[in-house]
Amino acid sequence: MAENNDNFFENNLFRFENRPCACAEDTHYITPSQPPQTTIKVQAIPTDKIQFAFAPIVGLVRLGDKGALVEKNLLGNLIAIKNGDTKALFEYFGRNGFLFNISDTEYEPIDTQKMFELIRRLRTTVELLSALGAIKKDYQKILGLSLYLILSNPIEISFSTMDTPYRTCLHSFHQKLQAANDYPAPEYFQQELYTEESVTIPDTLLGQPYKFDMQLYMNVLEGSGDEHWIPGSSQLLFHNTAILFAHAINETPQIRRIVDFLFHYFYDVGVVRNVNEDGSIDYYKKPDLKKISSSMKERIIEIARLVISEEINSNMSDVHPVYDARKMVPSWNVDSLLGGLYFSIFYMKPDLELFRRCRQCGTFFPVRATSTRKVYCSDECRNRYQQNMHRKRKREQEEND
Ligand SMILES: [Zn+2]
Repeated sequence: MAENNDNFFENNLFRFENRPCACAEDTHYITPSQPPQTTIKVQAIPTDKIQFAFAPIVGLVRLGDKGALVEKNLLGNLIAIKNGDTKALFEYFGRNGFLFNISDTEYEPIDTQKMFELIRRLRTTVELLSALGAIKKDYQKILGLSLYLILSNPIEISFSTMDTPYRTCLHSFHQKLQAANDYPAPEYFQQELYTEESVTIPDTLLGQPYKFDMQLYMNVLEGSGDEHWIPGSSQLLFHNTAILFAHAINETPQIRRIVDFLFHYFYDVGVVRNVNEDGSIDYYKKPDLKKISSSMKERIIEIARLVISEEINSNMSDVHPVYDARKMVPSWNVDSLLGGLYFSIFYMKPDLELFRRCRQCGTFFPVRATSTRKVYCSDECRNRYQQNMHRKRKREQEEND
């Protein structure tokens, strides 16, 4: 056992500490006829330290007193927590401490909804990496997960101990989309408006200039779109995308490559209404999936990679390189559990290993990318699933007899 531990320490890429945390609930009865309001609050316990380490394949783990491995797969266990399951969330904080550094002298309230949103972003990033690493690519899922990260509004979290609030990643494309109306129409449009029935837009997806139908362009400017022809085109997402496509022709190639894709995707396949937790997309009409061209598929992968890099880079501010003077080796300083969790995603190699959801218990567990058969997180889950199936079959047989 000791030998294993030594090995683990030699192979680990980074280690860090966190303080245990106490979670408590305050229930306020404000109006007799109304249900009470509940505030959740957390405080760090100053006396103890919790140790974490990360090693390839094993992932991020919590260590016990003498450095023994106590809980594996800390990332998978966190992102398996369902939206709204505060009990599971507090148990996780109880074992591993809080995601951020918090005061050890007073309780501070937390917004649990923001915590679940943080977890959803982590889960979406991990699922996106895994979907990119899968041998058979699910393009709808890859696009849905990417769009969720790009389009959802960033959130801000602040505690008295933090110099600056934590902000979720504000993607470069999100900013451009919000500012779409600030781009004036290119000057050459004036001329074309008199002489043509379309305006010409340089296009990185088609590889040749695109003729934007004048009537649709005018309708988009007005905000009405063309609901009969393109359901969802009166909505803000289509409006901003189309305006950016037409007006932001001098934007960076990176932004152009996203906007050109999105415009054609919305136009040809369908306008996105909403992205669900599992990455599936709701459209304003039945999407025309046959219209997804091979260049669109390539572009989906390209966008997903960009989104992942922005998401991870933006969460690396709690991680700093340091030089270990005693061992004379480079090392890392990780300031918070959330930073450590993102750092463990940073080291994921989706072509080698990825996360899969257990068919029995729903937890996320690491598997080798080439292993298509491993669908349970443990022998226990495999046995339980098979027992359930066996029982179900037996019951069905008895009912049929
Ligand atoms: Zn399981």
